[in-house]
Amino acid sequence: MTDASTTQKQTRGFQAEVGQILHLVTHSLYSHQEIFLRELVSNASDALDKLRFLAVSEPKYLESDPELGIRIEIDKENALLTIRDNGIGMDREEIIEHLGTIAKSGTKEFLAALSAQKNKDSLQIGQFGVGFYSAFIVSNKVSVRSRKAGLPVDQGVEWISSGENEFTVETIHKQTRGTEVILHLKEEAKEYLDAWRIKNLVHKYSDHISFPIWMLKENEKFSENEEESKDKDNEITDAQVFETVNRAQAIWTLPKSQISDKEYEEFYKHISHDFSAPLAWAHNKVEGKLEYNSLLFIPERAPFDLYQRDMAKGLKLYVKRVFIMDDAEQLLPMYLRFVKGVIDSNDLALNVSRELLQNNEVIEGLRSATTRRVLDLLEKLAKDEPEKYNQFWSTFGAVLKEGVAEDFANKDKIASLLRFETTQSETKANVSLADYIARMGDKQDKIYYVTADTAAAARNSPQLEIFRQKGVEVLLLSDRVDEWLVVHLSEFQGKSLQSIAKGALDLTALDNEEDKKAHEQVQTEFKPLTTAVKEALGAAVKEVRISQRLTDSPACIVADEDDMGGHVQRLLKAAGQAMPESKPILELNPNHPIIKRLDQEKGSAELAQWSQILLDQAILADGSPLENPAEFVTRLNSLWKDLLGKTA
Ligand code: ADP
Repeated sequence: MTDASTTQKQTRGFQAEVGQILHLVTHSLYSHQEIFLRELVSNASDALDKLRFLAVSEPKYLESDPELGIRIEIDKENALLTIRDNGIGMDREEIIEHLGTIAKSGTKEFLAALSAQKNKDSLQIGQFGVGFYSAFIVSNKVSVRSRKAGLPVDQGVEWISSGENEFTVETIHKQTRGTEVILHLKEEAKEYLDAWRIKNLVHKYSDHISFPIWMLKENEKFSENEEESKDKDNEITDAQVFETVNRAQAIWTLPKSQISDKEYEEFYKHISHDFSAPLAWAHNKVEGKLEYNSLLFIPERAPFDLYQRDMAKGLKLYVKRVFIMDDAEQLLPMYLRFVKGVIDSNDLALNVSRELLQNNEVIEGLRSATTRRVLDLLEKLAKDEPEKYNQFWSTFGAVLKEGVAEDFANKDKIASLLRFETTQSETKANVSLADYIARMGDKQDKIYYVTADTAAAARNSPQLEIFRQKGVEVLLLSDRVDEWLVVHLSEFQGKSLQSIAKGALDLTALDNEEDKKAHEQVQTEFKPLTTAVKEALGAAVKEVRISQRLTDSPACIVADEDDMGGHVQRLLKAAGQAMPESKPILELNPNHPIIKRLDQEKGSAELAQWSQILLDQAILADGSPLENPAEFVTRLNSLWKDLLGKTA
């Protein structure tokens, strides 16, 4: 590859991921083709935002062209549609970087998965953020002419591609600062040469853009001499001929009554690069100790990188209407990283930098206020639109759960937003802790839960048997984060959370006196058996005892009160973490025919073998792998053979 510092014309290949996107865009995006305009206007608006920010401290960047805006031009004769801005612009290196590569990690995997899907729709592709490349939905060739603010006129750059494998870049003279994207429209996209159509699209998608979008006034010819004007680079401030065709006001500064749902939705799509409308939003103007406008959105879909460290998170920060930065992470806690939106503060200095945001009192105040707002918004959604809330929960619930550990101040609020699958719910996580408590019997004083790798495994865990029999509801926890959740959420509304697979299960509150007595009696009765089994198993178990949990299975393993459960041990092991050795407790079901039979075999030679098989089975049922599965199979088969021999 040639050196980027050259001024020569170079031909370069697109990064593989870009090639894939272009392929998807040109071959799969048949619906909503018009969104290319929104994407390009959105990019122009971002470029203007950046220039305005730069010009706050360095007005020289405005050159002789201080009126910021976007101009859309139509050239019917040559089938050209041009979107021109006088924003920040790009230099040669940046244009190669920004319009030829994608830096986001995980893109490759995501694209590969998407390409393999049969029925991809534009929404799926859109979720990824088609952005600039959407120009190729309607164009068979795109040229981008740009000059970065502050660079001399002879350091403009022209980028040209037909959207296949490569593009060219060349250094050019460009009079005006900023970027023009010139679309050579495909035959079937000629409808976009109609000014009326374009104006409608601007209203539909870009009304909220806070910069003016100018178009030639109807019946006025765009240019006397096309060729000449191209060379000269038109000036943008040609107010006689051009009219503003959008509302050109920052949406968050307008009163709520003046904004339609459609406009909120379009604004969301502009800032989030999401195709789908948001699930909910909250728009607030705050005066008092802190003065700010906030507009916060809950997306409907999860971004593909929700669990990746470098996911773009945080809010867009404006200070007194001037854009300061994207993804201001300090404005929201990690567990709300799915929230999109804007904060426009009157209290910060315009020259605030990312570093200055740290340990900044105003930012701290904004962060706790926005956190509250989001939690309130979710609370309202849960109350007024439970269906939508369930949808939110299935998409982002596991992320919100992190908040219980992360945000001590709002722990109770977050806890009330949690939803669980339980033994009494359908296979859906839609039971709140408040619902659970409301359904508890008079004698129950704890919130019972079981953790496992999957909800199905949790639902089938042997420890649940007695709870089923007694009709006691149990939460089924199977998200990775759940083990940490229960560590940090020890109680809710005065009821403590209790694992059903830990400790000596104290169901006294649920039992009557007779049950209690009966259990004590059974324990004494089976003491010789439990002692013999413990002797047979040795150090493999901490204890062997008679169970109160089982009705159908012969045995199960449980963890001691202060030990880690099998599920969390597996998680830690998978994460490569060393953990303290903790042995399980084996519990036997005294009513099970196998245990009754075993009781008669206390003194026999096979007791050790049977005990080992019981333990291995219980470990398997708990969802843990056996240390030596082959040994288990051999042992079982040999006992089986003996049995067959006896009956033959
Ligand atoms: P995104 O906007 O999601 O970053 P795009 O593919 O739309 O993705 O654009 C890639 C990058 O190209 C932008 O982030 C920006 O840096 C640059 N870019 C695109 N359009 C313009 C423009 N009109 N002016 C300046 N830079 C632009």
